[in-house]
Amino acid sequence: MKQVNLKVNGIPVTVDAGTRILDAARKVGVNIPTLCYLKDVTNEGSCRMCVVEVVGAKNLVTSCFATVREGMEVITNSPKVLASRKTTLELILSNHDQKCLSCVRSTNCELQKLALEYGCDSYRFEGVKNHYPLDDSNPYLIRDNNKCILCRRCVAVCNKVQSVSAIGANNRGFKTEIGSVFGHKLDETGCVACGQCIKACPVGALYEKDDTDKVMKAILDPDKYVIVGTAPAVRVGIGEEFGYPIGTDVEGKMVTALRRLGFDKVFDVNMTADLTIMEEGNELIERLNDKNAKLPMITSCSPGWINFIETFYPELIDHLSSCKSPQQMFGAVMKTYYAEKFGIDPAKIVVVTIMPCTAKKTEVIRDHQSASGYPDVDITITTREFARLLKRQSIDLTNLENSEFDDPIGKGSSAGYLFGATGGVMEAALRTVASTINGKNLEKLDFKKVRGLDGIKEASVKLDNGLTVRVAVAHSLSNARKLMEQIKTGSCKYHFIEIMACPGGCVNGGGQPIVPSSILNSDVDVRALRANAIYNKDKKSEIRFCHENPVIKTLYNEYFGKPGSHKAHEILHTSYKPQHKL
Ligand code: SF4
Ligand code: SF4
Ligand code: SF4
Repeated sequence: MKQVNLKVNGIPVTVDAGTRILDAARKVGVNIPTLCYLKDVTNEGSCRMCVVEVVGAKNLVTSCFATVREGMEVITNSPKVLASRKTTLELILSNHDQKCLSCVRSTNCELQKLALEYGCDSYRFEGVKNHYPLDDSNPYLIRDNNKCILCRRCVAVCNKVQSVSAIGANNRGFKTEIGSVFGHKLDETGCVACGQCIKACPVGALYEKDDTDKVMKAILDPDKYVIVGTAPAVRVGIGEEFGYPIGTDVEGKMVTALRRLGFDKVFDVNMTADLTIMEEGNELIERLNDKNAKLPMITSCSPGWINFIETFYPELIDHLSSCKSPQQMFGAVMKTYYAEKFGIDPAKIVVVTIMPCTAKKTEVIRDHQSASGYPDVDITITTREFARLLKRQSIDLTNLENSEFDDPIGKGSSAGYLFGATGGVMEAALRTVASTINGKNLEKLDFKKVRGLDGIKEASVKLDNGLTVRVAVAHSLSNARKLMEQIKTGSCKYHFIEIMACPGGCVNGGGQPIVPSSILNSDVDVRALRANAIYNKDKKSEIRFCHENPVIKTLYNEYFGKPGSHKAHEILHTSYKPQHKL
């Protein structure tokens, strides 16, 4: 690659030809502010916060767009540059509903941070403001366009990363607003509830619906028996809300915090991730042995993905595993097996889950998710809501001792942990399926080909019965779409496919802590750091196969009989139907 020499604020730097000025500056410790730029997703250069002076150029240059030239001299902090950025910010603020005191993004808002840094006068440009009604038409997110700064990061993520295109710009000029086509509400569109737009938004214009009051109401009701379960990705994300570095595993403190909140039982959804693998693995083996069965079989634990296939590929829903997600299996087991074993009326049980995911709020209200006659899961909150709840209840995660999940069914295997990262469901399934067919546990457990952040990963596993199982893993819905097109055209060569709706999997779910673009645009890969925390847990674990989890063995011995039994089907499996949307 050809190298280019330039100076940024007088500091010499050498970078590859084609490098953006923004990235060249970062290499020598010069951070240029951005609002609309999101690495690998969008660089429209529309907000003009990243302007710099280039010696010899007549106008200021947008550094997220312009690339380096040999001998270029860039100045990022001249009075002209700073004045331009300040004016940009003050113009944004002139049409912005400045409610920082009660805004969900206050202290983690890119606009607020920059306005402070640049000493903005919030009311320098006073005039007419737009007033928009909130779009709260769905159970998972709220759009408040009164706080939207028209950066279009949400639009780019929805279109390019998720290939859903549920939102875009409506109207023109001062009346421009972001929303759904023809002003429809979000719940009338093909939006799959993934929440990736929330994570992309630099301000408080998009946020999840807050269900924390419902949680406390249940806990404070003496007639209710409130059980909580946490997804694998939450424990490697929640620490960030309390100042821990990205990818810190705070499982022990998290369990203590949940107990302090007042839950009657604190369990781990990893346990039902193991159960999912038992059922899904059995289903895969059955399909592999049946010449007429639909292959490839596709995983069903990501509700954003389920919304996507039901909306965009309804003709392929027979490929989905019929297994409920670990969250729904968790609720179903609590209100059937657990309720019977401990003599608790399921009507009195409230199951709360803490998930890295906004789409889980759509999953809990789906049809066929009420094994006991009551909803499997009553309330689900995201990692971000969980953090808010802890802060409101004066629980400081940093100062808590570690503790363990409750017995008797709190424990999961470390294969269950892997569900938090792209490729993890596949890896956990392959460990159990290969061991079952071979009649002995695998010696080499790590399926490294399905790890990592390539959009589509593939692997094949030769089994002792002579069959070679070909698998693929996709994360983000634009990659899922590529595999669905292969199935439609008959060119798909896989037996089993794992799909997670969010890029990187649940560790980067739409309900996880929001990381500012200054970090997302750097060399730090948030998804990899959080996933590594999960792989480290797996490496150190004593139980690395789902089928070896003693809790799972007890569940089958005492209740379900065997994977795929009639009872297991009644309680742990579900069905799908096309969603007809815009
Ligand atoms: S979006 Fe940011 S600037 Fe606007 S009210 Fe919220 S915290 Fe304040
Ligand atoms: S939740 Fe997902 S699908 Fe819906 S608008 Fe946001 S990014 Fe698009
Ligand atoms: S909603 Fe947020 S991400 Fe979308 S355009 Fe507005 S400010 Fe940008």
